[in-house]
Amino acid sequence: MKKMPVPPSNTLPCSSGSTCTDKNDLCIIISPIGEIDQDICGLVGKKIQSVFGYHTMTLPILSDISFAYDENRKQYHSTPILQKLADNAPANCFKIIGITGLDLFIPILTHVYGEAQLGGKACMISTYRLHDSQETEIYSKINERIVKEVIHELGHTFNLRHCDSSSCIMHYCRAIQDVDMKSDQLCRYCAIMLADELK
Ligand SMILES: [Zn+2]
Ligand SMILES: [Zn+2]
Repeated sequence: MKKMPVPPSNTLPCSSGSTCTDKNDLCIIISPIGEIDQDICGLVGKKIQSVFGYHTMTLPILSDISFAYDENRKQYHSTPILQKLADNAPANCFKIIGITGLDLFIPILTHVYGEAQLGGKACMISTYRLHDSQETEIYSKINERIVKEVIHELGHTFNLRHCDSSSCIMHYCRAIQDVDMKSDQLCRYCAIMLADELK
């Protein structure tokens, strides 16, 4: 039998990104799956609040995603994970973004940086391919990519589609260079679409 990589079970309650204090306050939940750096949750939380205007709360919901593991591909299928995140989210959750270090795929692609329920509640990203083994990388670079992909996937849950503008955060990226090239901002067009959604 092939051995399955086991995701770390001791999840870090990274409270540094928590700004949601009222339990009845609708918020966007940042949900680390496995060990995710506390600093990342904090950075992501700040950016989410500035773009979408919602408080954030860091809350690990899933520690084990072996149900989504594909033996042949040695990767995790993101779609069922999204469903589980949405199903297990607490009542005050408006949107939820899962963050994992494990490699994700959807059947038609070799890998994905993330996936989202378009106009729905849940989305997730993987940090796995946001590291480039060729570079001696500075953490800030990786963190920048993570923040961009988080905002991108959350954008989809607010009904934003992919944008042709290569500098827009909603631009679809095939390679890490594309991620580095795009800004961490919505273009004017996407910003208007989001403002409409937030009304
Ligand atoms: Zn996308
Ligand atoms: Zn755009």
